[in-house]
Amino acid sequence: MFCNNCGKPIEDNAQSCPFCNATVYNTEPVLDTAITEEEDNKKQSNILIFGILSLFFNNSIWGIIAGAIALYLSKSYKDLKGNLPACARTGSILGIVGLILSIFNVISALFSLVLVFVFYILWFIIMTGNIAIMSI
Ligand SMILES: [Zn+2]
Repeated sequence: MFCNNCGKPIEDNAQSCPFCNATVYNTEPVLDTAITEEEDNKKQSNILIFGILSLFFNNSIWGIIAGAIALYLSKSYKDLKGNLPACARTGSILGIVGLILSIFNVISALFSLVLVFVFYILWFIIMTGNIAIMSI
């Protein structure tokens, strides 16, 4: 490599330049695709957190979103590392359960809303005495 200060060629593992005595910084691109243990733990706990969130908010659309995130994170983790450790696996299972529950609950909530609307229309027709529409 070359000295950052004077530009003269120096040894690759040199700590300082033998020509100008400047401290040498390695400017070679570092090919570090491996994630650190700290990042790994963070990724795993994120899966777990979103799994728990999806279960916790299973009565709303947030449960669907959190469940989908948990599944996406666990999939990308699996693609990166090949397998899911216990913590991440727990999160992904919770995410699946939360996602299914949320979808079910959101659909049934929408269904109730439609039912309420239909009953309201029926009630309105009856109360206004307009029963012509009901004889169809
Ligand atoms: Zn130098």
